[in-house]
Amino acid sequence: MKRIFLALSLLALISCGQDKEPKEVTVEETKQFDTVDVHSFAKRWEARVQHLDLDINVDFDAKQISGFAEWTLSENPTADSIFFDLDEIEIKNVWADGQETKWTVGETDPVKGQPLVVHFPEGTQKIKIEYVTAPSAAALQWLDPQQTHDKKHPFLFTQSQAILARTWIPCQDSPGIRYTYNAKVTVPKGMMALMSASNPQEVDPDGVYEFEMPQPIPSYLMALSVGDIAFASMGERTGVYAEPGMLEASAYEFADTEKMLEAAEALYGAYAWGRYDLIVLPPSFPFGGMENPRLTFVTPTVVAGDRSLTSLIAHELAHSWSGNLVTNDTWNDFWVNEGFTVYFERRIMESLYGRDYSEMLATLGHQDLEETVADLPKEDTHLKLDLKGRNPDDGLTDVAYEKGYFFLRLLEETYGREKFDTFLKNYFQSNAFKTMTTEKFMAILDSNLLATDSTLIASVNPEEWVYGPGLPNNCPRVTSERFQRVNSTLKAWADGAFSFDEMETSDWSSHEWLHFVRHLPDTLSLDRLAVLDEHFHFTTTGNSEVQAAWLTYSIQKGYEPAFPAAEEFLIRVGRRKFLTPLYKALIAEDPTKEKARAIYKKARPNYHSVSQETIDAMLK
Ligand SMILES: [Zn+2]
Repeated sequence: MKRIFLALSLLALISCGQDKEPKEVTVEETKQFDTVDVHSFAKRWEARVQHLDLDINVDFDAKQISGFAEWTLSENPTADSIFFDLDEIEIKNVWADGQETKWTVGETDPVKGQPLVVHFPEGTQKIKIEYVTAPSAAALQWLDPQQTHDKKHPFLFTQSQAILARTWIPCQDSPGIRYTYNAKVTVPKGMMALMSASNPQEVDPDGVYEFEMPQPIPSYLMALSVGDIAFASMGERTGVYAEPGMLEASAYEFADTEKMLEAAEALYGAYAWGRYDLIVLPPSFPFGGMENPRLTFVTPTVVAGDRSLTSLIAHELAHSWSGNLVTNDTWNDFWVNEGFTVYFERRIMESLYGRDYSEMLATLGHQDLEETVADLPKEDTHLKLDLKGRNPDDGLTDVAYEKGYFFLRLLEETYGREKFDTFLKNYFQSNAFKTMTTEKFMAILDSNLLATDSTLIASVNPEEWVYGPGLPNNCPRVTSERFQRVNSTLKAWADGAFSFDEMETSDWSSHEWLHFVRHLPDTLSLDRLAVLDEHFHFTTTGNSEVQAAWLTYSIQKGYEPAFPAAEEFLIRVGRRKFLTPLYKALIAEDPTKEKARAIYKKARPNYHSVSQETIDAMLK
């Protein structure tokens, strides 16, 4: 609580002459809530929003969004001013219930951006803000036609998580504040606009689209995508949007989505959001997927042609419960979104494809986690983080995802699946459309699951998992029979026991291949790498997971025939998960960073700001 008080009382504002300084927050006031969010200026205990009417115009030539955000205040604010978050947005005017009102934009904080303080008379219900975004707005990626799949039309997509919504909508940009929204979006004729809301399935001839999101969401789930987009149905409640040239392949790839939705509901209760659609974005999308409600945003790098990378869809779908329904209160509690989602994702995959399949995913996750824990400073390996003064993106590591997963898996294994499933189902139901702090979750865990058998608590040691560093000794062990078969095949081949033609790999999935490439011995000669490549075509495979792992390994080993493909991959693909290890390998191979910088120079314009920020830091 003390830290919170300090952070807020240090808030400095530039005053516009007659405008009074916002009053300091007292400790008493902060006590009304469990926490406040160190990444937002919004003082939610004083005045908060409950609904948004957005009316915006999308201008591809100027690379700008402009228009009006009209916010309905929640009832009975205790102050006569409200704080919004901004970053680079230019405010044109502000009205309180239709009357011009006093407003102030504060000093820029390097992480949070700027506060917009709007003063309003007592009884005010609506604050209307006229604004325009900057061409460099970090959430928005404006793509030229050449950067799209079909190369005919420009494309725009947003990425609001974690704190980028404030670069395209003036908002109270904290996951602890939820609101419903309606939007009217005007785009160039011939283009389709989609949001995290009820969506059209056909192009509007005038380029005017109206959206409704009747369930309350936090700002990081605000999403917009505009381009030459077509729709294909995949089931009663599921469908896919993509550029026309990608549509058929996308609908084939994700054909199991409806089944995943049914499996998810069978596990943890009814889906709360109406439809569940996907949009396959151009390759510069910085993440695998983004769980924008009703419309998951997906990287095209999972369209592998064999439906082998669809655990990503199970993951984004699972967020419809963990994250979108029960939401981390602040970015320090990010594991509450991601750890639960990875657990849920693997349960969906197990339901559809069996335990031996989901155990491959868990094994790969464990490998990632061990590497990450070894790389990160100790304090960043806690589940509960302290990211004050830092970009919340720093908390987006395998710790939140995989350490969170293994903690929940330990609870499942200790208390039994039946008890754990009942606990989780109740947890989602009783906290639906609410936010969750780590502390609140620990209290719920304590009084529900842990209370059912207190003799087991010591063997779990939840405090060590959540507030301690690294990977505790009681981390569940994962064994994958399918990977064990890969291991013995690989060993026999490396020992020279047989040739490739004798290898039985016809039923291997992408995960087996990934495991194979990740475990190639360090001692292989370049000649043997060439033979391997000639036989399995790793350098040119259309499977991005396997290709990225192989290209990284090739750079590490100095296998030059793969270098041009690595360069091409880095220029074409903007998914950060692949970029980071590839650039890391390039830097290790050439510590002057010249090689990496030369490629990055060509590739950077194609990356979203989220990826640019990470790679900029690596190459500075
Ligand atoms: Zn996720």
